Amino acid sequence: MIERAARDAGRRDTRKKDAAPRGIFRHRSGVWAARFTCGAGHIHQERVGPLKSDAVRVYHDRRARVQDEPGWCPVTERETKRAEARTAQARPCDLSRLRKGIPGLGETASPGMAHGSIAHKRDG
Ligand SMILES: [Zn+2]
Repeated sequence: MIERAARDAGRRDTRKKDAAPRGIFRHRSGVWAARFTCGAGHIHQERVGPLKSDAVRVYHDRRARVQDEPGWCPVTERETKRAEARTAQARPCDLSRLRKGIPGLGETASPGMAHGSIAHKRDG
């Protein structure tokens, strides 16, 4: 039992070949990523980008968040944000309202076109 624990600990050290600090690792896609445990106890892996320092920043950011907000989980947060985005999209388009309000502008574009040409797409 004790022997196996010691061997496991030794094996963990070989990760040093990555030259990455704790919680930071190279994702398969080649970018740096942060691995952290959220307030709900999940292990999350978040791809960050080509800069290791960015991944380190994200890692510390997430860790701080977990400390600040007990039970915080990015998945739960993402769901909340998605719901907020839906609410925002349901709101009438400000631009078409503006066009209708200004004489002359509304004549050139049909209301339908003004709406359809504006993309509300967001990266999840
Ligand atoms: Zn989580």
